[in-house]
Amino acid sequence: MSPMTPARVTGTPGRTRVLVVGGGITGLAAAHRLRERLGPDAEIIVAEQSMRLGGKIRTVDFAGRPVETGAESLLAARPEAIGLARAVGLGDAIVHPANLKPALSIGGRLVDFPAGHMMGIPGDPADVAALADAKERPDNGLPILEPGADMSVGALVRERLGDEVLDRLVAPMLAGVYAGDVDRLSVRAVMPQLAAALERHARLTEAVAEIKRPTPVAPPAGVASDASPQTGAASPHLNPTPAASDPAPRDGAASPRLQGAKPVFATIDGGLNRLVTATSAAARAEIRLGMTVRELRQTPYGWEAIAGPVPDPIKITADALVIAVPASPAAELLRAVEPQAAAALSGVAYASVALAAFAFDRLELPERSGFLTPASDGKTVKAATFASQKWPHLGRRRQIVRVSMGRLGEEALLQYDDATLAKTALRELGEHLGQRLPDPVEQRIDRWGGALPQYTPGHLTRVAAAREALGDHRRIAIAGAAVDGVGIAACVASGRSAAEAIADQILADSR
Ligand SMILES: Cc1cc2nc3c(=O)[nH]c(=O)nc-3n(C[C@H](O)[C@H](O)[C@H](O)COP(=O)(O)OP(=O)(O)OC[C@H]3O[C@@H](n4cnc5c(N)ncnc54)[C@H](O)[C@@H]3O)c2cc1C
Repeated sequence: MSPMTPARVTGTPGRTRVLVVGGGITGLAAAHRLRERLGPDAEIIVAEQSMRLGGKIRTVDFAGRPVETGAESLLAARPEAIGLARAVGLGDAIVHPANLKPALSIGGRLVDFPAGHMMGIPGDPADVAALADAKERPDNGLPILEPGADMSVGALVRERLGDEVLDRLVAPMLAGVYAGDVDRLSVRAVMPQLAAALERHARLTEAVAEIKRPTPVAPPAGVASDASPQTGAASPHLNPTPAASDPAPRDGAASPRLQGAKPVFATIDGGLNRLVTATSAAARAEIRLGMTVRELRQTPYGWEAIAGPVPDPIKITADALVIAVPASPAAELLRAVEPQAAAALSGVAYASVALAAFAFDRLELPERSGFLTPASDGKTVKAATFASQKWPHLGRRRQIVRVSMGRLGEEALLQYDDATLAKTALRELGEHLGQRLPDPVEQRIDRWGGALPQYTPGHLTRVAAAREALGDHRRIAIAGAAVDGVGIAACVASGRSAAEAIADQILADSR
């Protein structure tokens, strides 16, 4: 079908039609699950504003290799993303990172990221003594969090373990996933397992130690995700195997020790675009590219969406809707439908990042997967991934390095031209590595404006309230990184769960 088919969408009478708004991995996972639940006759339409599917997933040919310009890894410790890859026929293409240790760049030196921590918070202050003064402040004997309460990660760690642990360990870890401000990130949303433990512990280190302690019985398959959609973010930069100390967010993931040698992270040989394409194909959905959905109306029979170009809009009627777009367009769409849900979504801020990729013909890199940097070092580069070392399937014929720049509040960075960003990235990369770098044989800059949602304290409560308000309307569901977690695995879980809710209602009504 032509991406911009101008004809009105009229549909086939009697056939159930579901409109999925947003062709990122959330929308595609929802479409795929809807197909499984509703069968071959259902009409599933995916309306995507841009001219390609995938959203924050985009693989390009770079220096002759399939290199990711956005998300690069799947959390394999929870089942959803890997499960989807297998379900759409990519089981044989799942590959894992090399067993290389990640590093922290401190004072111009790359040092090992300490073991035994959760997102940089140590279970034992002694583990991080070489890097930060982590003596825990005296406690008052009361649990740190009251049931259901929330606070920022920054306030929690600074109060209990001090500035150095926050700045050198926790902030770089969280910057790797959210590019966020630790003082604005919700503990309950970004580390739900820790939040639950804080309801039982008066000491932060004890709560972390409890979570890191191996439990005698391995959880059954499917439980490894902690059933929490908020987890599942994979650091775009450092995804070591469990044998290495693991700075990537694994909150909610089963302890690596429970999984034997099973790696925590994975990707798809040939690029994550393959997951996008294969999911779309398996969903057998009608894909409409260049189709911005601008307005939603509830009708006595279902929903009406106004989409397409403003001068020549088209009307799409549907029995049900899955909204799988970022917070701001989602809020816009919901404003006339359910203002309370719209208000909850419009409060979600987003951070922007720029990624530089370099290919070098000859470059000796440390045997690591990459490094993170503390924000306080005043540099633009916040992390680097030695992609060709980290991912053996890329091969080392050329060294490919991805450098990430930009944290929340540094949006102006994206305004610099490509040459300036590449020059800055290259200069700082050389400083972190302590060597003058050769000229790259290929380079590219990718800007991701407003790409990473920031879950501030109370996020989960606001999302729950939005969903409750939407519950008054039939056959509409919200899903995706705006609400349920930034990681691809979390997005797949979110899309699938929206599809389940919609399919349950449709099937119940048809009985
Ligand atoms: C640089 C970067 C690196 C990352 N690295 C990782 C990683 O290594 N591992 C990991 O697990 N996660 C990573 N993430 C996070 C992850 O990629 C995203 O959170 C996830 O892909 C979001 O999927 P989504 O479908 O919810 O949203 P999106 O990917 O944002 O898709 C939403 C889609 O909706 C479309 N849209 C918006 N408005 C409308 C409208 N009105 N009508 C129709 N369509 C509309 C958009 O064009 C877009 O295609 C990374 C993110 C970034 C930015």
